Amino acid sequence: MSLIADNLARIKAQIGDATLIAVSKTQGVDEIGQAIAAGQHVFGENYVQEAAQKFPALRAQYPHIVLHLIGALQSNKAADAVALFDVIQTVDRVSVAEALAKAIAKTGRKPRLLLQVNMGDEPQKAGIAVSEVEDFLAHCRDIGLEITGLMCIPPQGRDARTFFGAIRGLADRLGMPHLSMGMSADYLVAIECGATEVRVGTGVFGERG
Ligand SMILES: *Cc1c(COP(=O)(O)O)cnc(C)c1O
Repeated sequence: MSLIADNLARIKAQIGDATLIAVSKTQGVDEIGQAIAAGQHVFGENYVQEAAQKFPALRAQYPHIVLHLIGALQSNKAADAVALFDVIQTVDRVSVAEALAKAIAKTGRKPRLLLQVNMGDEPQKAGIAVSEVEDFLAHCRDIGLEITGLMCIPPQGRDARTFFGAIRGLADRLGMPHLSMGMSADYLVAIECGATEVRVGTGVFGERG
């Protein structure tokens, strides 16, 4: 088995029913192809443009690929993102929500949407503050945008468990079925705290070049 296949098998055995999103940013189509050969079909990318360079050809060959956008989205890329991604995890401000609503209405394509929450209230970080989540969701509903999950990246260097537990509680209160949290360093903790999807890059593919 390849190293990538080994990694996938190990992580899948650890996460039970949760979805493994193999984060393939900076990886080439060769590495992604190895993951596909090992049975992986859910991938995450950070940049619309990078994904647009790699995935249309892969999709032509493997139509069952499911592609998640996990990096910040600019409003002017919303239409491209709606065309390319099956899940957009990083709805994080009004302008992006409005651009997505427009693109969805225009194309009829309806990616699953998650709201990125800034659980640590870090000023430099993307995401909606916890105190603003309910108002933001109400605005999304007003413009016809359906959000069915939450996503977070907890503050670095602090105990992720606290933030994972808090966002799990928030997702429960809001009745959100999907919860995306946990990366290579902390996906096991995220699973213990109730993640439904984990985003693992280096743990699957090795260190990024
Ligand atoms: C890069 C990235 C990941 C994967 O990180 P690893 O530490 O390589 O597992 C997960 N989520 C987001 C939002 C990322 O940008």
